[in-house]
Amino acid sequence: MIVKRDKLNFWERLYLPAIIGGFKVTLRHFFKKKITMQYPEEKWVVPPGYRGAPYLVKDQEDRTKCVSCQLCEFVCPPKAIRITPPGPAGSPEAGNVEKAPKEFEINMLRCIFCGFCQEVCPEEAIFLMQDYSLTGTSRKEMIYNKEKLLALGGVHQDKIQKWKQKADEAKEQGVKP
Ligand code: SF4
Ligand code: SF4
Repeated sequence: MIVKRDKLNFWERLYLPAIIGGFKVTLRHFFKKKITMQYPEEKWVVPPGYRGAPYLVKDQEDRTKCVSCQLCEFVCPPKAIRITPPGPAGSPEAGNVEKAPKEFEINMLRCIFCGFCQEVCPEEAIFLMQDYSLTGTSRKEMIYNKEKLLALGGVHQDKIQKWKQKADEAKEQGVKP
C-alpha cells in the first residue's frame, strides 16, 4: 500500500514558522523559574526523622556515649559495624568509668541505613543523621573510624548526664577518671 503524503504548502516549505515555534518554546523555558538542582553544591532538605548515615554522638561534656556493649554490632544485618572494646571497666586501658570503645568502625558501603543500631543502642550513642550522599575514592575511605563518626555525629544534648554523674562519683572515690 502506498501512503499518499500531502504536499507542503508555501509556509511549510519556508520552515520559518516551525523555527519560530521552536524559538518560542525555548524562550518560554528560558524565563521560567529554574528547577534544576545544582548537585552536589545544592542538596535536598530531608524531613525530620529521615534515616541517613549512622554516626556516633558525644554528650554535652564532650564524652563518647558509646560503652562498647556491641549490641549494634550484633543486630546490624549486613555486619557493617566493627567494634574493638577497650577491656573491662576499671582496667587501665578502659581509661574511664565505663567502656568507651577503643575503635568503632562503620563500613558505609555495607550499611543499608536500616536504623537497627539506633533503635537497639541503650546509651543513645548512635543516630542516623541526615546525610544521604556519602562519597569516597576508595573502599578504605568508606570505612569510617571512631574519630570520623564522632566528628560527624557531634554533640547530642542529654537530659540525663550519666557520664558526668559517674565521673563525679569516681572523683569522690579518688578513682582516676
Ligand atoms: S543503619 Fe543498619 S546497616 Fe547501617 S550500621 Fe546501623 S544497623 Fe548496620
Ligand atoms: S553504639 Fe550503642 S549499641 Fe553500639 S556499642 Fe555503643 S552503646 Fe552499644
